[in-house]
Amino acid sequence: MRIPLIGGNWKMYKDPAGTMSFFERFRPLVEHCGHCEIVVCPSFLDLATAVTATRGTNIEIGAQNLHWAKEGAFTGEVSGARIRASGCSHVIVGHSERREYFGETNNSVLKKTVAALDAGLIPIVCVGEREKKNAEAVLTEQFRCSLGALEDGQLARIVIAYEPVWAIGTGDTATPEDAANAHRFIRALTNGRFGAEAAANVRILYGGSVKPENAKGLRAQPEIDGFLLGGASLDPVSFASIVNA
Ligand code: PEP
Repeated sequence: MRIPLIGGNWKMYKDPAGTMSFFERFRPLVEHCGHCEIVVCPSFLDLATAVTATRGTNIEIGAQNLHWAKEGAFTGEVSGARIRASGCSHVIVGHSERREYFGETNNSVLKKTVAALDAGLIPIVCVGEREKKNAEAVLTEQFRCSLGALEDGQLARIVIAYEPVWAIGTGDTATPEDAANAHRFIRALTNGRFGAEAAANVRILYGGSVKPENAKGLRAQPEIDGFLLGGASLDPVSFASIVNA
């Protein structure tokens, strides 16, 4: 059985005080949630605050990026080992904003995914097309060059997030049917490379303008194993209502 996961990507928003006040409000709203995993991904400087604010709760903390090397002369970068040591369990890899603004490629996504696994983190690996019309070609290429190049067994330790770029931050969310079709396509790719059991077990989240108003319809699709939220994760009430829906 695939346990749903609802993740929040805070991007470059909030500060330590905002992080503390978010969790003070959020914790009681989700404390009875046992049906899904909850992962919040603040910016690097707020990870420690978030880890402290969620200790002993059902909320896990993730980073938004990592470097693929264990250590070295990589000014400004952060290793998976440091992220793990700070108390994080997850890390987002290959978000479309990283691909667009920071030159991430399918190859760097592969290296970062492996580095995250080596550090004991669960990578949430983002894939998705820029334009609606060529989804399958883009997903095939992204899969072939990153996820498909993982070793057998590694897939079981990752989470995939399907995030069509045209839906991120635009309000133009995929219809439940279109999202489910894309998820089925990604699952078929994993089946072809890793076999039926691995494909049946891997969790595929949907991300792109998910809000409390549209979450229920998307979640009704058995192919959708949860969400990666951007904007809706910044507000504790919106985030919690999606978790509890
Ligand atoms: C995201 O950035 O991963 C995302 C899904 O953003 P939003 O929910 O704001 O579209």
